[in-house]
Amino acid sequence: MNFDLNNLVRDNVKNLLPYSSARDEYKTDGEAMIFLDANENPYENGLNRYPDPQQILLKSKISEIKQVSKKQMLLGNGSDEVLDLIFRAFCEPETDNVISLPPTYGMYKVLSEINNVENREVLLTSEFEPDVEAILEAVDANTKLLFLCSPNNPSGNSFNAELVKKLLESFNGLVVIDEAYIDFSDIAGWSQSLDTYPNLIITQTFSKAFGMAGIRLGMLFASKKIIKILNRIKPPYNVNELTQQRALRGLQNYSEIKKQVIDIKNERERLSKALVQLKYVFKIYPSDANFLLIKVDDADQKYMELIGKGIVVRNRSKQPLCENCLRITVGTALENQNLLKAFKELES
Ligand SMILES: *Cc1c(COP(=O)(O)O)cnc(C)c1O
Repeated sequence: MNFDLNNLVRDNVKNLLPYSSARDEYKTDGEAMIFLDANENPYENGLNRYPDPQQILLKSKISEIKQVSKKQMLLGNGSDEVLDLIFRAFCEPETDNVISLPPTYGMYKVLSEINNVENREVLLTSEFEPDVEAILEAVDANTKLLFLCSPNNPSGNSFNAELVKKLLESFNGLVVIDEAYIDFSDIAGWSQSLDTYPNLIITQTFSKAFGMAGIRLGMLFASKKIIKILNRIKPPYNVNELTQQRALRGLQNYSEIKKQVIDIKNERERLSKALVQLKYVFKIYPSDANFLLIKVDDADQKYMELIGKGIVVRNRSKQPLCENCLRITVGTALENQNLLKAFKELES
């Protein structure tokens, strides 16, 4: 392997002098100080101060739960922001390219378009696994990023570990593994392999299993060197105070989150067994996530009929390899019951 991080960083990022915020320049060691350095309104209301730009308390809590060191962690305004930071640190517009593997999460393509970076698409196999050979063939000297979404949205499967390993070992750019759904998987993710693979970046999120999509909080795990580079370009106060407080409070109740995840996984299995009985459902794809991809006789029709019954699922039938497929999020037991009732009514 020929991985050299310095060769991947954009020159402007290498050379820039990062903004130094007031909160970066002086931090209290716990002693009560008078802060007259940031032009804040001095009258305390709980939110009159700028938030901690490094989110230390929150990172400590996440570190305990995810077993990843604070120095190998970057937080942002949703996964959306941390993914965008990766583009901006490593991809030169109009010159570099990235590889993504449809059918997959739509943001990789959107972000490449926003950043004016070519997005090379290499289809997953019919089993929804990465086609290692075709991927390595698509790589050239300007390929900076490879996006692996595992468990993959919308197919729901985790990628075969041997294939991922092969890509980590053969690709000299950065491998970004999007683990937004990892908490619903029985398979361990890649967060304990950061020290093995210097080219590995993992993203996770508070939006799915953690039940906090509304606060917009994304996590990125990578080597200290990569984190250092991303910290140079991150907006200083990208995770606001309300989000930091609410995230910490949510994590104090981590046992509740784990219980919900177990319930959702049980409901996923129940839903899967019931859906397979329907005569117009041809296939339920195995899922490590909190949704099921199912193949039906006529996805557009079934989608509209469900809407008529007040139930909104995601029609993925226009995605490659997803002809006549619907993606269904696992809801509460009651919601799933209503979904099954509606589906049964469509049989007659
Ligand atoms: C839902 C989802 C996310 C979450 O994005 P946020 O910006 O953190 O809400 C990330 N990746 C994938 C594949 C997703 O499906």
